[in-house]
Amino acid sequence: MKSYTLPDSTGHFGKFGGSFVSETLVHALDELREAYDRYKNDPEFQREFAYELKHFVGRPSPVYHARRWSEQLGGAQIWLKREDLNHTGAHKVNNCIGQILLAKRMGKTRIIAETGAGQHGVATATVAARYGLECVVYMGSEDVRRQAANVYRMKLLGATVVPVESGSRTLKDALNEAMRDWVTNVENTFYIIGTVAGPHPYPMMVRDFQCVIGEECIEQMPVDAGRQPDYVVAAVGGGSNAMGIFYPYINHADVELVGVEAGGHGIDTPEHAASLNAGVVGVLHGNRTYVLQDAAGQIQATHSISAGLDYPGVGPEHAWLKDSGRARYEVVNDDEALQAFHHCCRVEGIMPALESSHALACAARMAPTLSADKIILVNLSGRGDKDMHTVAEFSGISL
Ligand SMILES: *Cc1c(COP(=O)(O)O)cnc(C)c1O
Repeated sequence: MKSYTLPDSTGHFGKFGGSFVSETLVHALDELREAYDRYKNDPEFQREFAYELKHFVGRPSPVYHARRWSEQLGGAQIWLKREDLNHTGAHKVNNCIGQILLAKRMGKTRIIAETGAGQHGVATATVAARYGLECVVYMGSEDVRRQAANVYRMKLLGATVVPVESGSRTLKDALNEAMRDWVTNVENTFYIIGTVAGPHPYPMMVRDFQCVIGEECIEQMPVDAGRQPDYVVAAVGGGSNAMGIFYPYINHADVELVGVEAGGHGIDTPEHAASLNAGVVGVLHGNRTYVLQDAAGQIQATHSISAGLDYPGVGPEHAWLKDSGRARYEVVNDDEALQAFHHCCRVEGIMPALESSHALACAARMAPTLSADKIILVNLSGRGDKDMHTVAEFSGISL
């Protein structure tokens, strides 16, 4: 692939992507696409985005040589892209800044979002506070109960959290409710989607905002590691941290791109979230992609120890990268991710998010099979403080 220019003008990555929404939203999406087309190359927009990433988020995040862990594994050198050091503790804020700057320029006064574990809700509430806009976050009532600390965080930041009581009372129900709100309030409301999913132009737009991650790596790796990596590895929930680090490397043909899906209790059980490895092509969240659904077309309940990977679909660009062969997608189960979490804590003094621990586990699997002069760059998408209770519970410890 020499010059990669997807999606096409209708938002397709091959047969994936597109825009499957109700009539009422067609106009809103047209308006968003036009605004994004206009501002994405606008120097003033770019300047403000870069300024916020530097002064509010704390970018650039460094790349770090996990030297002790690499030595212990006895093979390739593992490097970490430190998105855990960002304000709010993960990569999600990069995208939220981009979208709220766009909302402001479009004259929108109200922000809505949906969240599962609450991480995207917190990132959205953070930027809404920063810009003084009203913020409403939809969250399944089951998730509200499970993620009480994040609900309180959002409230501290001034957001209204609306518990959704329909269906399984989790992420997919919150998604439907957010869409319904947008249809009703489309005049003054901007919908901030948290990953590279949703109808066109969201998958492209979120990727573009997140690709600051990979662009920094392309600059940093030759300086700090002496050259570009041989492998780039990232966890895939919806796929935004992975697209953010993959995208600038797509045209570097000798860099292998490896996405890592959540295998939960194993993809031979119903309890996983591996849409690319075990899903079928369908429509979810306004785009065509791989989804986990049953024979009757009902979206399946998913499971992962990391709430952020617990999503029954995946961004359409990953579906394309998989089918085209440009990226490959591995599966890591709960127990293996937990093991990598503990190793990273003890050997490197870094507590990774459980999402990122899936990518770390995959790198730990690869490293011993490679020679010591190979480089694996892992996107450490977030920090693990939020996951302490989950890890403790798994180890039979009550905090
Ligand atoms: C939300 C989240 C993810 C998964 O989302 P993507 O869109 O796939 O990146 C991964 N890591 C962390 C730390 C998260 O908070």
